[in-house]
Amino acid sequence: MSSNADSTASQRGAQRPPPLHEGLRLLLQTTLDAVVVMTAAGTIADWNDRAVSVFGWTREEVVGRPMADLIIPERYRDAHQNGLKRYLQTGKAVVLGRRIEVSGLRRNGEEFPLELSISPIASEGNVLFVGCLREMTDIYALRQARAEVARVTQRMAMDEMAASIVHEINQPLAAIAANAQAGLRWLTRATPDVDEARATLSRVVADSRRASEVVAGIRMMFKSEGRPTTTHDVNDLVREVLTLVRGDVENQRVSVSTELAEELPQVPANPVQLRQVLVNLVMNAVDAMSNIADRQRVLRLKTELHQPDCLISVADSGSGIDPQHVQRIFDPFFTTKSHGMGMGLAICRSVVENHGGRLSVERNLPHGTIFQVLLPIGVAASLDARA
Ligand code: ADP
Repeated sequence: MSSNADSTASQRGAQRPPPLHEGLRLLLQTTLDAVVVMTAAGTIADWNDRAVSVFGWTREEVVGRPMADLIIPERYRDAHQNGLKRYLQTGKAVVLGRRIEVSGLRRNGEEFPLELSISPIASEGNVLFVGCLREMTDIYALRQARAEVARVTQRMAMDEMAASIVHEINQPLAAIAANAQAGLRWLTRATPDVDEARATLSRVVADSRRASEVVAGIRMMFKSEGRPTTTHDVNDLVREVLTLVRGDVENQRVSVSTELAEELPQVPANPVQLRQVLVNLVMNAVDAMSNIADRQRVLRLKTELHQPDCLISVADSGSGIDPQHVQRIFDPFFTTKSHGMGMGLAICRSVVENHGGRLSVERNLPHGTIFQVLLPIGVAASLDARA
């Protein structure tokens, strides 16, 4: 490309090339893309240094030769010729003004992926096509490697989850087996001890209940039918939840404050599941305040519009979350409670995400924790329309 520009400049004698022309020449020399200029006859009019290194042909070797024969794999050549012919007849071509993915052919016969964008330009009454071609070999390899890493990470997360599930179910099953054997021993003694047998059988019942709760929790976590079914008023949701938890809240001497924004738009919701989310968050808040003796135990429920979402926050004045644990509280089976199952927040997050929303946590000041449920209102209108 440079020699063409130079010879044009020297033909004009001592005249300096106009700055724009010089700038374009430099641009073509320095750009990281291969630039190929093709005539309406399909021959190469020019190509830059990067095209030399990508395709392996020098500029002198290619100028004046049919482009398709040199850099387009054979199976695409007909399509290229037809596209060119159609453009010259109609002025239209699907490839113009777009980034398209194609294959290129190197001098040594190797095919490689390219991204291409083409613009026609008028030059002294003729049409020329300027093509910018970017080799994608490394980028595709990188994308593939990244996808592989994501797949492996996901598999590891699944393996970890499977191991936790096995552990959580095995524990009560082992306890059931041990207690059932102990019960049998109490009953098969020379003098059966019915009270001891009854106590061990009660433990069997409790453990089997726990195992089925784990299973129910896992089903709930993976359930995709938790998606929104209707539109619902979030303030109603909060009021319903407060009715459900009133007993526990009063038992724990927790005072409740509500700040419900007026005229909130309805949100698409599966009310049964969202109610469960809020009950979980409130019960966790109540638990977190159960040991607080030197200050008020306050549960604050707030709703507000946070375009494009509705925000429901559940705040407590409890013990707060240990900074070491905060990354793990949404993990299935993570619990700091002696009788906790650690599935509540994992289920809450999965339900909220099935609603297209987000569940997050932050510190409440001066004490306690705030959980925030963001629910998008965006699709409410379309659900309303369907109703
Ligand atoms: P569980 O209640 O069975 O422990 P969750 O998944 O609901 O399971 O909660 C996981 C953990 O997150 C709890 O054990 C507790 O350590 C922490 N946590 C949840 N909510 C709160 C809260 N409001 N304040 C302090 N810690 C909390």
